[in-house]
Amino acid sequence: MNINIIGGGPAGLYFAILMKKAQPAHRIQIFERNGPDDTFGWGVVFSGKTLANLRAADEESHAEITKEFEAWDNVDVVHRDEKISIHGNSFSGIARLQLLKILQRRAEALGVKLSFRTEVYEVEALRRECDLLVAADGVNSTVRLKYLEQLKPRLDLRSHRYIWYGTNQLFHGLTLTFRENAAGTFAAHSYKFNQQTSTFIIECDPQTWKSAGFEFMSDEDMRSYLGEVFATDLHGYPLLSNNSKWIQFLLVKNENWFFDNVVLLGDALHTAHFSIGSGTKLAMEDAIALAQSFQRTSNVREALADFTTTRRPVIEEYQSAAFGSMLWFENARDYMHLTPMELALSVMMRSGRVTYEDLRKRDPEFIAAYEAVTAH
Ligand SMILES: Cc1cc2nc3c(=O)[nH]c(=O)nc-3n(C[C@H](O)[C@H](O)[C@H](O)COP(=O)(O)OP(=O)(O)OC[C@H]3O[C@@H](n4cnc5c(N)ncnc54)[C@H](O)[C@@H]3O)c2cc1C
Repeated sequence: MNINIIGGGPAGLYFAILMKKAQPAHRIQIFERNGPDDTFGWGVVFSGKTLANLRAADEESHAEITKEFEAWDNVDVVHRDEKISIHGNSFSGIARLQLLKILQRRAEALGVKLSFRTEVYEVEALRRECDLLVAADGVNSTVRLKYLEQLKPRLDLRSHRYIWYGTNQLFHGLTLTFRENAAGTFAAHSYKFNQQTSTFIIECDPQTWKSAGFEFMSDEDMRSYLGEVFATDLHGYPLLSNNSKWIQFLLVKNENWFFDNVVLLGDALHTAHFSIGSGTKLAMEDAIALAQSFQRTSNVREALADFTTTRRPVIEEYQSAAFGSMLWFENARDYMHLTPMELALSVMMRSGRVTYEDLRKRDPEFIAAYEAVTAH
């Protein structure tokens, strides 16, 4: 089979690896507009369950990924200077660049052709010359735009603002920190992903963003302002920018996941708010699901229909949990009156997927402490 893939992110690379591994005769080419070492963002997070899926799909890359890992089992919620730790949550972090390098090497070793610094404009020409065109071209997918009528995307740009920074302050666990100032409420999501660096994502509602005056601030002033807001948490370490910009979360859904020989994958197909887990995990699990559909049938239309049938319910459930989590963070201001313990419980149950009894099983000490302080 002749496969063209637009986008050399986690979705495109991992799908190429799995297809080439299953059938070395496939001719697979990835078109990526960036160079092999250009990337944005900091660390990406995987749950224990995702790691098991990656191991089952490709032991070689799994071994490389887990060599580089930082693992933890606690979520820390910081509110009014008090830190509440909830254990029993298995997660790991790795630098996005590191992950991409591992996947690039593995794809190249298997014989996938990687064309870097190659932006695709002529989507239709590329589609005509292959049996399968995979649109793994990210949240602002060109392919999705080109085939708007066939794919029928539904896009929802949220008003909340967030920005991805890094820092050399190490957060040993997934740390959710809430801070307030005269402008409003800020939340930070942070976790270390190597021995020196943590991801530090800051979000706030549109009123807070406006009152803080970010619209007219330079990158340096913004980092210094936010460094002040989170001064207690950053312990003097500055916020590190990697061309970091305030963005609004774009919720992506598509009525049709494929048409003819074109299929969407990863962020191009769907997004889930970062507060519930990284888009990287979903992108790689999409690649696994699509490759499995091609194991069941080599007919392209049948495989794409099979992928839609099997994967859509998983994504819908995930997007629904992520939506609950996103709404919680969008309304974080309304929860600031809670005590640290009450806030920690509310945060842990925000997606509607984790019950009070689940938490009791995961971390009985946390629930005992909660019951002790809330008992009348
Ligand atoms: C600013 C920002 C920072 C982020 N930081 C993090 C982070 O730190 N941790 C985390 O877990 N997640 C992060 N994410 C989310 C994460 O990047 C995605 O959820 C995940 O990478 C999805 O994988 P993907 O392969 O579907 O898409 P992507 O990783 O976005 O890959 C798509 C690729 O397609 C390429 N491309 C697009 N159009 C074309 C074209 N026409 N021709 C050729 N190439 C093209 C792009 O250059 C890109 O490399 C961030 C997202 C944004 C927007």
